[in-house]
Amino acid sequence: MASRRTTTTLRPKCEIVVLVSVSDLLQRLLIPRHMTVDSAGAPALLLTVECKCCGEFIRTRVDKANDLQDVYAQDDRPCGYVLTKEIVGARCRNIVHITIQFDEHRRPRDIQVEGGHLVHLECTD
Ligand SMILES: [Zn+2]
Repeated sequence: MASRRTTTTLRPKCEIVVLVSVSDLLQRLLIPRHMTVDSAGAPALLLTVECKCCGEFIRTRVDKANDLQDVYAQDDRPCGYVLTKEIVGARCRNIVHITIQFDEHRRPRDIQVEGGHLVHLECTD
């Protein structure tokens, strides 16, 4: 007899934990007033992270129009976006994992960095 299977969904639930310290960090780092538009001209996030192994500062760019994945609520309505990115610097082989949660207006709400830490964040829109 086949066992009864419960249905599972692959979509992440829209339960975003915003850490107070990260929110404070975002408040300090997000400077929307005098942003420079990057070369591509599209809205983007420019991040600088410090590798926890060698201390290298690694810059990376997130294209907000193309790099983000939709996040759906339990009722299948879109409720935001998420980005996961892995980067490696030039000086060592440590992988820095970056996860950014965005609200429905593609504004960053929470940033988690493993293997390093965030030192700078810029929005170009
Ligand atoms: Zn490194």
